Amino acid sequence: MPIYEFRCVDCGHVQEVLFTSSSDTVQIRCQECGSEVLDRVISRTSHVMGASRGESSSPSMTTRSCGPGNSCTTLQLPGHTR
Ligand SMILES: [Zn+2]
Repeated sequence: MPIYEFRCVDCGHVQEVLFTSSSDTVQIRCQECGSEVLDRVISRTSHVMGASRGESSSPSMTTRSCGPGNSCTTLQLPGHTR
């Protein structure tokens, strides 16, 4: 299963997010400060297993407003679409 690293833009905390094949979209938030604004970290060693299509296998991040003063980051993983 693919693992992606994300860095919180507010406190800089880096965490790994594991994506399971049972969910196409995963909502992530910082484990330290609870911020939902995270940047994906491109690690030197690839944690992506089973992905061999290069850029097409990268998840797309969508940040949208989900409430007053809040924004939600949603990831969509190509290749898991059924
Ligand atoms: Zn944080």
